[in-house]
Amino acid sequence: GKKYCNLKHYYKLMQPHTKEGLGLCNKEIFTELCRINKCQYIHYTLEDNNVIPLLKHVYVTLQAEKTFEDGPLPSQWINCDLRHFDLSTLGKYDAIMLDPPWDIHMNLPYGTLKDKEMKALKIRQLQDNGVCFLWVTGRALELGRECLTEWGYKRVEELVWIKTNQSGKIVRSGRTGHWLNHSKEHCLIGVKGDISKINRNIDCDVIVSEVRETSRKPDEVYDVLERMVPGGRKIEVFARPHNRRKGWMSLGNQLPGIYIVEPDVIRSFKKSYPEVPLEEIMEKYRNLDTE
Ligand code: SAH
Repeated sequence: GKKYCNLKHYYKLMQPHTKEGLGLCNKEIFTELCRINKCQYIHYTLEDNNVIPLLKHVYVTLQAEKTFEDGPLPSQWINCDLRHFDLSTLGKYDAIMLDPPWDIHMNLPYGTLKDKEMKALKIRQLQDNGVCFLWVTGRALELGRECLTEWGYKRVEELVWIKTNQSGKIVRSGRTGHWLNHSKEHCLIGVKGDISKINRNIDCDVIVSEVRETSRKPDEVYDVLERMVPGGRKIEVFARPHNRRKGWMSLGNQLPGIYIVEPDVIRSFKKSYPEVPLEEIMEKYRNLDTE
């Protein structure tokens, strides 16, 4: 029988000198103060493989074959035009992240969506209960809020990403921004439906992390979301190839073909798109799933 737990476990790293009263340390922010082992604040660590420590030994010696249910799914993706793709084929998600190509009157290396196209996206179909992270910039700081309301969310937080150079110690300013040079990006956080299972107050609302390619968001944000809905179904909308991650479904028009492993999703995709030669496409792109 299954003697291991499907939930993810986080442990407080308590050292002899940890002072619980001081709260949590966000090591991204306190880089000057925190050397983890010396830090007096509380840190959290994620137990690996969803396995409780005492059962790890048994798990290994039995050489149990892992199934999709046991651990995170491999990365899955669908190349699509989000203005037309039928989102109802994918089922419901616990966490959604969107980084839309807002029409913000800037030179971008990809096409943008008009305001009314953004509002018309059927994000509603992807989620009944859970959390939605929506990256916004420029005039989308307002437009993004309108979209969240349109899609049925209540905006509850706003996370900022402070951009640094590679050392993580110098704030890096880009050439974007009409009045001030921008050194940060904003991510609105909305919730809807039954939110009783979402973890609260684990992370803080600032990520300090290095700048990479144009528009590319920091990997830390995936961990923040994961800690809010551990083990949940997760989808990224307007993802690029480098965004594909274990446990996530990615949608976007720059992704290579289609790769789906969840049987339910395969079934409903085939029903909605009988003309798409799914197996053939998946065979072609299978090897690209390097994770
Ligand atoms: N978060 C990403 C950046 C996303 S940029 C990162 O971390 O790298 C926005 C993406 O949306 C681009 O890949 C762009 O090609 C894609 N896109 C633009 N219009 C689209 C459409 N109509 N349907 C699907 N994807 C679209």
